[in-house]
Amino acid sequence: MDFSWSEQQRDLYASTLDFARSELRASPEVGADFPRESWRRLGEMGLLGLCVPEDYGGMGLDAVTTARCVEALGRGCTDTGLVFSAAAHLFAAVMPIVEHGSEELKRRLLPKLASGEWIAANAITEAEAGSDVFALKATARPDGEHVVIDGAKSYVTNGPVADVFVFYATRDPAQGFMGVSAFVVHRDTPGLQVGRPIATMGLDSSPISSVYCEGCRVPLADRLGGDGRGAEVFTGSMLWERACLFAAYVGAMDRQLDEVVAHAQQRKQSRKPIGKHQAVSHRIADMLLRLEAARLLLYRACWSRDQGEAAVLEVALAKLAVSEAAVQSALDAIQIHGGMGYAREAGVERALRDAVPGTIFSGTSEVQRNLVARELGL
Ligand SMILES: Cc1cc2nc3c(=O)[nH]c(=O)nc-3n(C[C@H](O)[C@H](O)[C@H](O)COP(=O)(O)OP(=O)(O)OC[C@H]3O[C@@H](n4cnc5c(N)ncnc54)[C@H](O)[C@@H]3O)c2cc1C
Repeated sequence: MDFSWSEQQRDLYASTLDFARSELRASPEVGADFPRESWRRLGEMGLLGLCVPEDYGGMGLDAVTTARCVEALGRGCTDTGLVFSAAAHLFAAVMPIVEHGSEELKRRLLPKLASGEWIAANAITEAEAGSDVFALKATARPDGEHVVIDGAKSYVTNGPVADVFVFYATRDPAQGFMGVSAFVVHRDTPGLQVGRPIATMGLDSSPISSVYCEGCRVPLADRLGGDGRGAEVFTGSMLWERACLFAAYVGAMDRQLDEVVAHAQQRKQSRKPIGKHQAVSHRIADMLLRLEAARLLLYRACWSRDQGEAAVLEVALAKLAVSEAAVQSALDAIQIHGGMGYAREAGVERALRDAVPGTIFSGTSEVQRNLVARELGL
């Protein structure tokens, strides 16, 4: 067992952290426009194509190194919404194209997606199909060399700004997951409409909306994988997302811990720094314990993926540990900052608003516990 980082991993971490701190630092206002300039710079730095093969314009990194770069982004960039949007683009929409697209489709789409010229979104959730995701009702009716897609999707990250959607639809809802296929649908496809951006509690600069397809004709060549292979496409994308995206929260917790320690050293009450009050210092010790445990689970999950394992159990444990640690540590950070932790202008409470959705997207905490229980044979 070797816990050290390679020279390449150390260099990438340092350069990504430096880039994020110097160029992506500004915190967005609630309701701010999507930061397109930052997105373009993320693309130029290779960060939108970390695990995309080099042949298609990416960096060709493995899951561990990809996660390490996402961790650096999450640490250096206080705009967690932007990091989330970038990671959702890469793991839930671009990687399905890498792993299941035809050669022609990959050559046509991936260079634009890895460079930041285009933005991608994953559209699977529906009003009646959330955790029970393959109960989806959007239909894909065969029509010669095309399919005609009808259906409405909810909570599509990047929806308001996306150029392409990985859109899941079924040939027949009665067939369950066996009937589902995944299609790349372009924003300008006649019949496709994007709903108004939905106001949310956190991840402020990550735009989210419904997406509607009404009679959208999509070439069969733009299907990912074979007919009825959508469940496989989606499950694979969630393994990427649950493992690597959550490294952003590990990085954010690292930054938060630095800030909390600095505050506990500087803020005095009862004639001593609050960090000298054991109730405060123990809370901070627990924050570090939670962060390191979550980080180890995350990198073990990524490492297992790099060994070619499905790593369903490892990935579910990592997603659970990181997302729940992020919520608890954000609460701790607020408590340690006292009144200023609660005041928006100090920026401390933002971490809580950004952390809560992490226990919902990519499969809720309850769904992850279901997966863990299933892996235990329960
Ligand atoms: C910030 C954010 C970004 C998102 N981005 C996208 C995106 O890009 N694309 C996309 O398609 N979707 C996206 N989603 C949607 C997300 O995937 C769903 O919200 C999530 O899967 C939960 O579905 P639901 O909201 O319908 O809740 P429900 O499934 O209705 O769940 C409600 C509650 O019931 C619990 N529950 C449900 N079923 C079970 C069960 N079997 N066992 C135990 N408990 C259960 C849940 O855990 C939850 O606590 C996003 C959501 C958020 C918050």
